[in-house]
Amino acid sequence: MRPELLNPLFAPCDTLDGVGPRLKKQLTKLKIERVVDLAYHLPVQHVPRIPVERLDPAMVGQVVIAEVEVHVIDDGDGRRPTRVRVSDKSGRFASLVYFHDRGYARKILPPGEKRLISGRLDEYGDQLQIVHPDHVVSPQQRGEIPEREPVYALTEGLTNKKLSGLTATALDALPRVDEWADAHFVKSQQWPSWADALRRAHAAEDEVRAKSRLAYDELLANQVALLSIRAASRQRKGRALVGDDRLLAKFRAGLPYRLTGAQERSIAEIIGDLSQDAPMLRLLQGDVGSGKTAVALAAMLRAVEAGGQAAMLAPTELLARQHYATLNDMLLGTGVRCAILTGREKGAKRAAIYAELAAGSIDILVGTHAIFQDAVTYKDLALAVIDEQHRFGVNQRMALTAKAKVPPHLLVMTATPIPRTLTLTQFGEMDESRLDQMPPGREPVETRVISQDRLDDVVESTGRLLESGGRAYWVCPLVEESEVSGELAAAEARFALLKSRFGADVVGMVHGQMQGPDKDAVMAAFAAGNIKLLVATTVIEVGVNVPEATLMVIEQAERFGLAQLHQLRGRVGRGGGRSVCLLLRAPQISETARDRLKLIRGTNDGFEIAEKDLQLRGGGELLGTRQSGEGSYRVAVAEDIMRLADPARADAKLFLEHEGGFATSPRREAMRTLVYLFERDAAVPLLRSG
Ligand code: ADP
Ligand code: MG
Repeated sequence: MRPELLNPLFAPCDTLDGVGPRLKKQLTKLKIERVVDLAYHLPVQHVPRIPVERLDPAMVGQVVIAEVEVHVIDDGDGRRPTRVRVSDKSGRFASLVYFHDRGYARKILPPGEKRLISGRLDEYGDQLQIVHPDHVVSPQQRGEIPEREPVYALTEGLTNKKLSGLTATALDALPRVDEWADAHFVKSQQWPSWADALRRAHAAEDEVRAKSRLAYDELLANQVALLSIRAASRQRKGRALVGDDRLLAKFRAGLPYRLTGAQERSIAEIIGDLSQDAPMLRLLQGDVGSGKTAVALAAMLRAVEAGGQAAMLAPTELLARQHYATLNDMLLGTGVRCAILTGREKGAKRAAIYAELAAGSIDILVGTHAIFQDAVTYKDLALAVIDEQHRFGVNQRMALTAKAKVPPHLLVMTATPIPRTLTLTQFGEMDESRLDQMPPGREPVETRVISQDRLDDVVESTGRLLESGGRAYWVCPLVEESEVSGELAAAEARFALLKSRFGADVVGMVHGQMQGPDKDAVMAAFAAGNIKLLVATTVIEVGVNVPEATLMVIEQAERFGLAQLHQLRGRVGRGGGRSVCLLLRAPQISETARDRLKLIRGTNDGFEIAEKDLQLRGGGELLGTRQSGEGSYRVAVAEDIMRLADPARADAKLFLEHEGGFATSPRREAMRTLVYLFERDAAVPLLRSG
């Protein structure tokens, strides 16, 4: 099915010379599995090689190129390295050091000869040395030493040199492909071809253009995929969901509150869509706490009234469980049967859910990605609700559509308001409903920014709140992904401190590495009030609902994204009373960081935060979660998206609507290759339909 052109690129890495099981494992750690992953493992930076006349102690730490004369070689043994004494043009001595050398140094560095060497200059005692020079050539071969060297993200045991070598092999294996992008546009941007762009991005030649081109390719592939799915689902007739309001009326009657105007309007818009036979594709945007769950349930009840099933996908197990509990509460007395399916339902229990789902005795299924896996068969899936869009890519959308005989209606909910440009790039065209009104009685959360220096004061006032029977969250700093263990250590240290201060029975902790049931147990204890203070890493970010909590402390707030801070803050202020959010920041922070915290302090309006944040830092964090997980871009960053998404959409439309797409466009083969390159399996049905 895949264009054959791509076979060499999709070959596993260990088909390359010199890649054995050990190296393969190291590469896997870097998420490099196939040759294409190597080609796209772009350098994080380039270091210059500095040509020098003399090996100068002032250059220690730099990568230099120098001409040297070889003197004596002191062969090493198992314990001592081989040392080659050389001198520079001024007669200054230095050593080239080789570990486990086995005669290699002697071969390339014959005593009495001149050589051009390059590597990182080190100091050893008062001696200058270069350990394992990267290049040793004769003085005439100067051109063989690159002036700038790519530096790659590495993992333990994998050297930059090794990885550079592999990458070069992968780049050599790039097939020749026809231009898939609109040729006029490519020309107007003075972009290199795809393969050249990859080579240049590695070599840091004309890097800006090269990377733009690579980013554009991804956006184009994504747009072509999204638009194709949209077009295909328009062609396939869906099913009009007609109901008699029987369940909706019961649902309304059972609610302990009145729906807000915004909720009513959104429900009406959704039900309007559902009553058409064109499949709905609608985005429900509403700030944290705006009441999206009730809207989603109303939509699902309509599906059930119409005799179909509904599925609700949550991004985490924790959220799935919470939704399940909330929905069950709201479903009391309606007779509607709701079940949950996550990685945790196993064995006989899981089998039973599968059976009931296939038989149609489950009306609503809530869960994590498990609910769209191959083994799951629905009797009649009429509506899918996706809560928190971030991790929902083209792939999953295809999987979902494949679950139903008739294309299901789709409702995507997001608590991170997304500016229009970004919704288009992320979802393609969708209709929108907005919950721009909060349920009554919500007081805005009072937000304060405090220097970390005043931690003691913060602990103090947290203590007062706990003594008076209140509940609080304490969120520990976010750290780089590479420091996950560090994040945990920091959180654990804080946990220990707070326990010693307030008593071990009052303080609990949740973090990402905990097992599901343990996490749930702690959350449940917090919800029930058995635990008063919940220390957490960002696992509590989305959806958790404990109205009694009125204080949110966030450490090193400057390290969080604004959207994320806003989400976290939304955990409090849910009970009607006054709530406080304390943002602790490092004593010294940048001007921009200051502005960002000021922004979040100044408003509780998620839509405003999203728009301003986009101006402040290009919307990176709105799309941030795309970086991990499915459907992420390899090269494109927020700036590329802002600049190139529109041209990519226009190009995709040109291809699909004016040139006849995969059926007749002159660039259909090239486009097939592109889409497959980035959207892989998701692309297969698309390409087949072409
Ligand atoms: P979201 O998912 O949009 O963040 P939820 O659906 O979790 O928000 O709702 C947040 C809280 O507000 C829940 O406790 C819910 O019961 C309550 N709620 C929802 N709608 C209303 C309303 N119209 N009036 C009062 N409370 C509401
Ligand atoms: Mg929610």
